[in-house]
Amino acid sequence: MEKVLGIDIGGTSIKVGLFSTEGTLEAVTKIPTGEIVSEAAFAVVTEGLKGLLAENGAKPEDVIAIGLDVPGPVDDKGKVGMLANIELDPEGLQNAIKRTFVNANLAFVNDANAAALGELWQGTAKGANSFVLIAIGTGVGGGVVSNGRLISGAFGAGGEIGHITVNRDETATCGCGRKGCLEQYASATGIVNSYKAECKRLGTTPVALDGPTDTLSVFNAHRAGDEAAQNAISMMCECLGYAMAQISAVVDPQIYLIGGGVGGGFKLYAEDLRAAFRKYCLAPSVATRILPASLGNDAAMYGCAYQALFERGA
Ligand SMILES: [Zn+2]
Repeated sequence: MEKVLGIDIGGTSIKVGLFSTEGTLEAVTKIPTGEIVSEAAFAVVTEGLKGLLAENGAKPEDVIAIGLDVPGPVDDKGKVGMLANIELDPEGLQNAIKRTFVNANLAFVNDANAAALGELWQGTAKGANSFVLIAIGTGVGGGVVSNGRLISGAFGAGGEIGHITVNRDETATCGCGRKGCLEQYASATGIVNSYKAECKRLGTTPVALDGPTDTLSVFNAHRAGDEAAQNAISMMCECLGYAMAQISAVVDPQIYLIGGGVGGGFKLYAEDLRAAFRKYCLAPSVATRILPASLGNDAAMYGCAYQALFERGA
């Protein structure tokens, strides 16, 4: 029986999904790895993968595609660029996996792009021809699918939605070194920062926050009628809706999917976000649907498996 693996590479562990070729997730496991830069570490990965297969009655030769998603840029040829937050030797790992899984096509995919492909394969975007996934977490990531194909761009910057300029007058600097990026207002960090700034402006005391990305507490404050929290969420919707209207003027997708950790609070701000988008978009795009993503943290695991399978068939 042919199988597909999707491997979500994190800083200290990997999460692996075993899929059928139709996209049914049959089993998941987490393998602690530490830095993936030595033959010993590659062996931990390949042994872990073999173990997952054995537990599910499959053999390494059954695996026809293996996707690996990484938190960094991957160009059109599948070459992994600079990875800021994890220690990984992509070529070394690739060679080790190829030696063990001789029938498998391998593909590296950027994590936000992988999440978009996952939603296309088995999530909310299943069957959609064009959509944009906006993943809102610590930052704002994106994946753009047009005519069924991912747009990663000539230089790998396609889908960098978080760095669309939405405020030319901003004085604070974004992580990318520029000023006024969407991420500064619509990421978890941005929402919490806006909330604190609004509390200061209104002279109110912020609710207790569990770290710099605790949007859950800001959402709860919003529900309890906290004016500063309501202003912070309004600001997020205003900036995000504005950015989405610019995206629509270029790719005009059928659907926007809101995912990532902040996507979990979708119901709370969905109507405000839809209203902001409609306020700024061109008339033909007004029917664009704005929906929550459905695969949560598993989306990238699905998507990299899909990409590896798709490339094998192509
Ligand atoms: Zn930026």
